[in-house]
Amino acid sequence: MTSWRNISLWMDQLDEPLTPRPALTGAIEADVVIIGAGFTGLWTAYYLKQQAPELDIVVLEAQCAGFGASGRNGGWLIGELAGQDALLAKRTPSERHAALELLHAIPDEVARVIELEGIDCDFVKGGMLTVAARYPEQTARLREYFAELQQAGYGPDDQQWLDQETLAQRLLIDSAEAAIYSPHCARIQPAKLVRGLAATVERLGVRLYEQTPATGWQQGLVTTPNGSVRCQWVVPAVEAYASQLPSDLTDLARIQLPVQSLIIATEPLSDALWEGIGLAQSEVFSDYSHQITYAQRSQDNRLVFGARGGYRFGKQLRHDFELTKREVRLLHTVLCELFPQLAGVTISHAWGGNLGVARAFHPHMVIDRAQGYALAGGYGGEGVGASNLAGRTLADLILQRDTLLTQQPWVRPAGSVAGIRAWEPEPMPFIGYSAISQSFDLEDRLLSRPQTPSWLRRAIGALARFMASLVS
Ligand SMILES: Cc1cc2nc3c(=O)[nH]c(=O)nc-3n(C[C@H](O)[C@H](O)[C@H](O)COP(=O)(O)OP(=O)(O)OC[C@H]3O[C@@H](n4cnc5c(N)ncnc54)[C@H](O)[C@@H]3O)c2cc1C
Repeated sequence: MTSWRNISLWMDQLDEPLTPRPALTGAIEADVVIIGAGFTGLWTAYYLKQQAPELDIVVLEAQCAGFGASGRNGGWLIGELAGQDALLAKRTPSERHAALELLHAIPDEVARVIELEGIDCDFVKGGMLTVAARYPEQTARLREYFAELQQAGYGPDDQQWLDQETLAQRLLIDSAEAAIYSPHCARIQPAKLVRGLAATVERLGVRLYEQTPATGWQQGLVTTPNGSVRCQWVVPAVEAYASQLPSDLTDLARIQLPVQSLIIATEPLSDALWEGIGLAQSEVFSDYSHQITYAQRSQDNRLVFGARGGYRFGKQLRHDFELTKREVRLLHTVLCELFPQLAGVTISHAWGGNLGVARAFHPHMVIDRAQGYALAGGYGGEGVGASNLAGRTLADLILQRDTLLTQQPWVRPAGSVAGIRAWEPEPMPFIGYSAISQSFDLEDRLLSRPQTPSWLRRAIGALARFMASLVS
C-alpha cells in the first residue's frame, strides 16, 4: 500500500509489495492474543514460540506490521534501558553487574536471532557516540555524566572518554570538543527488522491479522470490528497507542504519555562528503543537548537525523506525519549547525512517529496473572533494544519461568499496572512538556551564541537542568 510506504524512509526502502495480510473475521480462539505488530509484540511472539512451540498465538495489528514506532525510528539498537541506573540503584553490586551484562548483550542477542532466521536488517554494531558539540557547556555536562558513569561502575569496556583528537578519528564535527563512546549499540534498518520478524513468527505458526484494530479488551476476550478472539493471555503491545485501546481491565494511557519525534534523511551522500563526516564504522551519534538528537549513517550512505518533536494536549496521538516545511527546515538547520557542509544537500524523506514515555523514564514489564495479561512499554525513545528484552521477559513471565530476566527491577511479577507511577492529569503534562521544551530550546539558542553573557549562560543552564529534573 502506497500510504504505508510513506510512513518512513525505512518502509519506502522495502523490496516487498506491502500487501496487507488478511483481517480477522469471525470468532476464533487462541492461547495468547498479542495486540500490536511492532517490536514488543513480535519479539514476545517469537520467544514464546521458541520456548513453547505448541502455544497457539494470534497477533492483531490495526494497520500493518511496523506501522508504529518500530517502522519509523532512528535505528539505534541500544544495549540499555532508559532509567536503568536509577532502577538498579538499590541492587547489590553483583546483581547490578548481572543486570548490566544482560542489557549490554541485547544487540548481540538480536544479531544471533537475525542470523539464525535470515533477517537482513543492515545490522552493524559500530557503537554509539555522545558528543559535546555546538557550545562549551555541553563538554562540562558530559564530563559530569562520565564521572557519574564511572562512579556507577561502568568500565572502559562500556564507556570511553574520547578527547577531540580521538573523536576526530570517528566523527568530524568542527564544534565538537569531546565524546563518550559506548560499544553497546548497533545501527539497524528498523522496518527490515520488524517486517522480517513478522514473517519469521508467521513461519513459526503465529497467525497475524492486519487491518484489525482491537476495539475492546477484557479478561480472556479481545474484540475487533468483525471478529473476536477468546484466549488465556492478552499481551497489549501498543506502546504510544495505549490511549486508543479501550479496556475494562486497566487504563494504560495513565502510565504512558505519547510524545512525537521527528526525523529527516538526506539523499545518499558522496564519498567526499562522508570523508568530511566520518562514521566509517557506522557508529550512531547524538549531541549532548537537553533536546534529543540522534543520527545514523544508513546502509546506502544517507545521514538519517532525528531531532525535536512534540506532545499533544490530552495524550492525543499525532497521525499526520507529512512534516511541514517549517518542521523540515528546523531539523535541517539543527543538522547544519553540526555539519555546515550539508546546507545544500537534498532532504529526501521527512517523517515522525509516536513513542511512549513512562513517568520518571522508567519502562515497565508487567504480568497480572489474575486478569490474564502481560505487557511492556514506556521505553522513552529507547525501545528498539528494550523491546527485545521485553519480548524475552514477557515470554518467561507467561511461561512461569523464574529467570534473570524476570528478576529485574523493571519487572512487576506479582502486580498489575495499578502499582506503576501514573502521569498527572491534564493540563499538567501539557504545561510541563511545553515549559520544559521551551527552556531546552532557549538554552540551545542562547548557548550557541558566543556573545551571550556568562551570567545568562549560567542562569539558562540552571533552569534547563531544573526542568530536566522534573521528569526524572
Ligand atoms: C521517530 C522515532 C524515533 C525513534 N528512535 C529510536 C531509536 O533510534 N532507538 C530506540 O531504541 N528507540 C527509538 N524510538 C522508540 C522505539 O521505536 C519504540 O519504543 C519501539 O519501536 C516501540 O515498539 P512497540 O512494538 O512497543 O510499539 P510500536 O512499534 O508503536 O507498535 C505498536 C503497534 O500497535 C498497533 N496498534 C495500536 N493500537 C492498536 C489496536 N487497538 N489494535 C491493534 N493494533 C494496534 C500500531 O498500529 C503499531 O503497529 C523511536 C521512536 C520514534 C517514534
